[in-house]
Amino acid sequence: MTTLFPTSYESPWATEEVRSFRNTVRQFIQANLTPHQSRWRAQHHPDAEAYVKAGAIGMLLPDIGEEYGGGGGTFAHEAVVLEELARAGVIFGASVQSIVAHYIQKYASEDQRRRWLPPMARGELVGAIAMTEPGAGSDLQGLKTTARRDGAEYVIEGSKTFITNGLHAGLVCLAVRTDPKAVGPRALSLICIETKELAGYRVGRPIEKVGRNGHDTCELFFDGMRVPAANLLGTAEGQGLAQMMDQLPYERLSIAVAAVATAEAAVAITSKYVKERTVAGQPLLDYQNTRMVLAKCKTETQIGRVFVDHCIERHLRGQLDPVATAMAKYWLTECECRVVDECLQLHGGYGYMIEYAIARMWTDSRVERIFAGTNEILKEIIAWSL
Ligand SMILES: Cc1cc2nc3c(=O)[nH]c(=O)nc-3n(C[C@H](O)[C@H](O)[C@H](O)COP(=O)(O)OP(=O)(O)OC[C@H]3O[C@@H](n4cnc5c(N)ncnc54)[C@H](O)[C@@H]3O)c2cc1C
Repeated sequence: MTTLFPTSYESPWATEEVRSFRNTVRQFIQANLTPHQSRWRAQHHPDAEAYVKAGAIGMLLPDIGEEYGGGGGTFAHEAVVLEELARAGVIFGASVQSIVAHYIQKYASEDQRRRWLPPMARGELVGAIAMTEPGAGSDLQGLKTTARRDGAEYVIEGSKTFITNGLHAGLVCLAVRTDPKAVGPRALSLICIETKELAGYRVGRPIEKVGRNGHDTCELFFDGMRVPAANLLGTAEGQGLAQMMDQLPYERLSIAVAAVATAEAAVAITSKYVKERTVAGQPLLDYQNTRMVLAKCKTETQIGRVFVDHCIERHLRGQLDPVATAMAKYWLTECECRVVDECLQLHGGYGYMIEYAIARMWTDSRVERIFAGTNEILKEIIAWSL
């Protein structure tokens, strides 16, 4: 079947300069990240050198100021990186790197920004954000890791789990309880820890997951770990929960952006597949069910695209509220999972084989409904606005 009505939609935030950045990122991913994906999945982490290479082409921290070594761009540049990684099906820690950098840019001292951000932009220092504990995921206020002030240092005891970039992380933005007696939002703080040769710091082996095994997701253990008190983020103890609530929308928007790009890629590869695959003498696309399913997937994906572009534009104007971000992450990741699942079904048994891109999209996308606030928690946030 020939394409009678080609669709033409371009994101309104895609300027000429952003398009050129996209070409650079796309070529870099094709040449330097895609070829290593199956090996990274097998070893459960990307190569550390990949960060340095990505830093060299400006793919890390694209929306952090140039004065701190970042790309000096906007969230449009960050969105390009997220989209290109998602479309290529590449699992890599660039997004977490940006998330951590935004905490530092906003809450660290000027000295700390100048110490940490440039090596992060160059990919020499990998960042992680560590909130979740075995007993505290959705309920962050239940976290038990403590930081006790001792002179000019904090002494940190506890553990974290499911920490992305955990293996390579040289800088961990750590959520801790600075006031063990306090209950409520003022009990928590964020402290940055420089992990290199840090006594009392230990990283567990990367955890075996359903998907996204190209990413190092680890447990972290802290046993009497001493960290300079100056590494507290913010002006005083007790600001941690507010800082996380302030920054989580950036992370949620990033996930929503990647979700739409994945759904688009799933529709594209499946449209190609159903034209090539013949069953009982005719291409799969000639079966009405195939056309109906893909028409629905393409329409839902297009609705998602328009919504996420609207969110990106509002974010670029500084007007995106946390409720809209929660809606974007919740609805777009569910849309992504529906679309990817339908597309997998159209691949038949091949869709279940990990060598097929659609199978990897299926396993990789599922967690997006869980991390950075489960979709149930996000619906609660949306409901607070009713
Ligand atoms: C691959 C992966 C990478 C991750 N990376 C990171 C990372 O880099 N840093 C980090 O800190 N964390 C990370 N996480 C942790 C992730 O953010 C948590 O898994 C998530 O917040 C959910 O917490 P939980 O797993 O403890 O689930 P739970 O909180 O135990 O939730 C279990 C179920 O209960 C539901 N639930 C909980 N509370 C409510 C409520 N109030 N109302 C209705 N339903 C509720 C949830 O929606 C969920 O369905 C990662 C997780 C995964 C799987």
